[in-house]
Formats: sequence, structure tokens, C-alpha cells
Amino acid sequence: MSGDKKTKTIKTIRIDVDKCNGCRACELICSAFHAEPRYSSNNPARSRIRIIREPIRDLYIPVYAGEYTVAECAGRDKYTIDGKEYDECSFCRASCPSRDEFKEPDSGLPLKCDMCEGEAEPLCVKWCTHDALILEEREEEVEEQEEPEDLEIGLESLASKFGLDKIMDAVARLSKKS
Ligand code: SF4
Ligand code: SF4
Repeated sequence: MSGDKKTKTIKTIRIDVDKCNGCRACELICSAFHAEPRYSSNNPARSRIRIIREPIRDLYIPVYAGEYTVAECAGRDKYTIDGKEYDECSFCRASCPSRDEFKEPDSGLPLKCDMCEGEAEPLCVKWCTHDALILEEREEEVEEQEEPEDLEIGLESLASKFGLDKIMDAVARLSKKS
């Protein structure tokens, strides 16, 4: 019911860029954990965390895969760090059509960090022996979310009323607006 609150555990990974030495153990374990079957391969292109590297300046910046977007955004960011200008979108977390990052290399399907669902601790945090990635957890009161089952029932009824194609078109239009 809308307006109801519930307590939720919010997990945050604190990234200490100064401690990252670019070893890429985080990329390795993430891609292995998400391989099918699990641990059967370790291609970093499948990792949900990528290290932006600038070895000459001893600069390594971990970036986590975030939400998927269907369209490129019109506003871009450009960072200059220690005098080096980075490519547009270098530190963006989105899996988006403008670049290859955070896409499953074979299928092109978007990748998103799922905090290693089912594991006691995110594996990138566990494998980062330099303490560049630190897990923090806190309890927060949040609005009660609609249960996925309810959402599925609602979608099913909309689809049966309007047809699945119209629903898909409407969702695509809404995604482009947001
Ligand atoms: S495992 Fe830690 S130190 Fe190594 S690249 Fe990843 S974040 Fe950096
Ligand atoms: S928390 Fe898990 S899924 Fe997310 S980047 Fe780290 S290893 Fe990958």
C-alpha cells in the first residue's frame, strides 16, 4: 500500500581511489562470479566494475555498472584529474548505446552490479586486499515498494487489455523521456 514505510538495509561501497593500485582483482572475481557456469571463465569485459587506468600518473579509478538506459544522454561530463583530461562519459555508470562498457561482450545485454546477490559480502570488496573498496551498511525507512508479484499481475492485465506491443511502445517512450 502506498505511504507505508518499511526498514531497508542500504548497502554502499565506499571507494578510496588513493588506495587503488590497479591490480584488477575486483574485475577478475566479478566476471568469474557472473560467468555461466559460475567461475568457468574470468573475462574482465563481463565485470560489473571496471578500473579506469592511467598508469603513468599512478591513477586508477574503480567505476561500478549502474542502470541501463535505452538512449544516449544529451549532456556529457568531462573530467580533468591531475592535469589529464579524460574521455567524455569515462566515469559514467550507465550501460548505454554510446559505448561498449558494461555490456555482455557476446550478447550485448546490459550489465549491472547486483552486489553479488546471495553472497555475505560483495566479492570485489572481499578480493580488494588494499582496502580501496569498503562495504558500509545502514538501516533506512523507505516507502513500501509494490511487490514484484503485484507488478506482474498489473502488467499482465494491462497487456491483456491493450496488447503487449502497445505496452512495450509506451514503456520505451517513457524511458526516453526520463
Ligand atoms: S581490487 Fe582494489 S586495488 Fe585492485 S583494482 Fe580493484 S579496487 Fe583497485
Ligand atoms: S559487488 Fe559483486 S556484482 Fe558488484 S561489482 Fe562487486 S563483484 Fe561485481
